[in-house]
Amino acid sequence: MKSDIQIAQETEMRNINEIANSAGLDSKYIELYGNYKAKVDYNLLEDKKDEADGKVILVTAISPTPAGEGKTTTTVGLADALRKIDKNVLVALREPSLGPVFGVKGGAAGGGYAQVVPMEDINLHFTGDMHAIGAANNLLAAMLDNHIQQGNELKIDPRRITWKRCVDMNDRQLRFITDGLGGKPNGMPREDGFDITVASEIMAILCLSDDIEDLKKRISSIIVGYSYDDEPVTAGQLNAQGAMAALLKDALKPNLVQTLEHTPAFIHGGPFANIAHGCNSVMATRMAMKMADYVVTEAGFGADLGAEKFLDIKCRMSGIKPSAVVVVATVRALKHHGGVAKADLGTENLKALEKGLPNLLQHVGNITNVYGLPAVVAINRFPTDTENELKLVEDKCRELGVNVALSEVWGKGGEGGISLAEEVVRLCEEPNDFRFSYDIDMSIEEKIRAIAQKVYHADDINILPAAAKQLAQLEKLGFGKLPICIAKTQYSFSDDPSLLGAPEGFVLTVRNLKVSAGAGFIVALTGDIMTMPGLPKRPAAEKIDVDRTGKISGLF
Ligand code: ADP
Ligand code: MG
Repeated sequence: MKSDIQIAQETEMRNINEIANSAGLDSKYIELYGNYKAKVDYNLLEDKKDEADGKVILVTAISPTPAGEGKTTTTVGLADALRKIDKNVLVALREPSLGPVFGVKGGAAGGGYAQVVPMEDINLHFTGDMHAIGAANNLLAAMLDNHIQQGNELKIDPRRITWKRCVDMNDRQLRFITDGLGGKPNGMPREDGFDITVASEIMAILCLSDDIEDLKKRISSIIVGYSYDDEPVTAGQLNAQGAMAALLKDALKPNLVQTLEHTPAFIHGGPFANIAHGCNSVMATRMAMKMADYVVTEAGFGADLGAEKFLDIKCRMSGIKPSAVVVVATVRALKHHGGVAKADLGTENLKALEKGLPNLLQHVGNITNVYGLPAVVAINRFPTDTENELKLVEDKCRELGVNVALSEVWGKGGEGGISLAEEVVRLCEEPNDFRFSYDIDMSIEEKIRAIAQKVYHADDINILPAAAKQLAQLEKLGFGKLPICIAKTQYSFSDDPSLLGAPEGFVLTVRNLKVSAGAGFIVALTGDIMTMPGLPKRPAAEKIDVDRTGKISGLF
């Protein structure tokens, strides 16, 4: 079997001008980054603001398992399939971070015959967006510490600085550090730490901004810490917004590439899906909607996190209304939810498969009942799946009136996704009754409870005393009317990663609340969320290499 990178490297890419042309993009909007990558000028959105928008199809999944689900693969393959049935289509995806590329996960550009290319570039430096985000983040950190050094007019309490430096790497060594050592000329000594770049609030802001003005406004609102008088101190008070936006002006432009079958694809922005909202930029989705009749986009993790935030945060802020939702499931992952260990997932096990189905059905039920959107299950076929197993999932879905289609895009490319594409086109024509899972005017507590009860199916929530204090302070500071971004384990509907399937009778515990005032949401933490991952015992980096011709190997 060929590896993802082998398949990608065997494909003859088309010049990006040709791809832009096929998407109806005027060359005046295209900024070339070599032959196969381009950025698209945001003036396109202004010029086309009165033109009709295409339909948005969200690809999400069951609760993730170590077995892998294949959301990106399905997103790319579905777009290629739509193009095969003569639809005008564009893909919008997140851009990968170097941390996971060198850590456990490897690449994030799809798999098999459903990938975006050039996958080496997309997975490595791409067009430099991550570096720009890191630079903007670190400029703010430098200005903050300099402000303290130069007399601290804003009376910033060095013990209550919340803004961290960042680097796009999995590097646990930097989680907790002491800096500013060396005496008076070398800064104020304090405890500090790094986050991975994709966890920076700058990434979330970049992905939610409508334009440069909005970007600057959001950056100004970032809270960097608190003063000795307990007042929030913002990036705007440090006058950092202009220079930070200048660093980000190109990063804000969506990146255009192509799929293996030459479907145009935007890869832009990649915020965390726990402490942030986990989907590509509003800018890329909007542009794609102006250029295509169908836009296929992915949200991170399972539908309880990724789709919930896509719908309740991104769609609410941007006014984007999706037309249909694809919920990706695999036989292997369903068996895992039914209690099978990772090593045994390759063996047929109909009983475990059936036992795992409630996880899928609960996610689908949420999309249709809570959000009022039409949904279809895509069974992402793995080589180890048996006919009996595939049939069982299909039969059970049909029995319960759940739309379902077998997707073979990993093995066959767009050709393997035609029945899924036809079903998606049909669903896009159905009238829908899209609504959010909570009203923005509800209190913070009521909003969290609404998500917990409606989407997670929890009995109730338990806000711990420290979080209750933070909640009262956030409401006092005027942040009560922001949407909620719940940071929770992705492995379970609950806050306990070991509760697989569709757990019942649990209470969601909220341990901490903080505001991302620039991004514009309240983060509710239900457990310890890692914002600076570490490398595993055998990092993927050990297998990556480059030969004398510049050809990269070992990415997957
Ligand atoms: P997600 O977006 O849900 O994280 P990806 O689409 O990135 O998942 O897929 C994760 C990994 O699983 C990739 O390496 C991909 O090649 C592999 N994969 C996805 N679908 C299949 C499949 N049907 N058969 C075999 N491997 C697959
Ligand atoms: Mg993905």
